[in-house]
Amino acid sequence: MRLDEKPTGTAGQYRTACYVAPGTKRGASMDPLIEGYRRFRSRTWPGAHERYESLSREGQSPETLLISCSDSRVDPQTVFDAGPGEMFTIRNVAGLVPPYLPDASYHGTSAAIEYGVRVLNVARIVVLGHVQCGGIRAIVDGSPIPGPDFVEGWLKLAEDALKPLPTHLDHDHLLDYCETGVVKLSLANLRTFPWIADREDAGTLTLHGFRFGIRTGRLERLENGRFVAID
Ligand SMILES: [Zn+2]
Repeated sequence: MRLDEKPTGTAGQYRTACYVAPGTKRGASMDPLIEGYRRFRSRTWPGAHERYESLSREGQSPETLLISCSDSRVDPQTVFDAGPGEMFTIRNVAGLVPPYLPDASYHGTSAAIEYGVRVLNVARIVVLGHVQCGGIRAIVDGSPIPGPDFVEGWLKLAEDALKPLPTHLDHDHLLDYCETGVVKLSLANLRTFPWIADREDAGTLTLHGFRFGIRTGRLERLENGRFVAID
């Protein structure tokens, strides 16, 4: 598809300048990003500039702190149809939250959580998991986790919590078990942060778990320990 070609069909609308069709040789050129920026300026900015100017003037006050996987197919802004200033977003491999561990290490995820909760005073925290998570699949399949410098150690957070895996489940149910378990783990770890537990007890902060299906585009909500489809 050429850059000046109009998208066609339902799926076509997302064949943006940055979209690389499967099988296409990847390039290092910045052109797709610049084209995307120009489209943002010509199509989006005219209808959005007042919102951006207001956010610039007033600062941000998002109600939602969103934690999700970095997977490029799971974009929280798109899934929740959110605009600028609405969600303070943290993305990392598998959308994990580590336990509260204030020490001298570089805690990027915990720092962003602290900023969202203690500085921005968000009203809700959402953990967004997803189907077909590569990190979770590696844990289920017992295959080597790619990324020995950092990814492996990071995913041990989940692996230690999930293993030993139940032996009575087939592969699909094991994936479901682990996808559910990872979101539950992140929610449990959020509650180890004392200022999150305090706010939840006081009723000024709520915690929620969701799972997004990449193929179906469907969202499920964690209710009583299992994912339930949202109409
Ligand atoms: Zn993932």
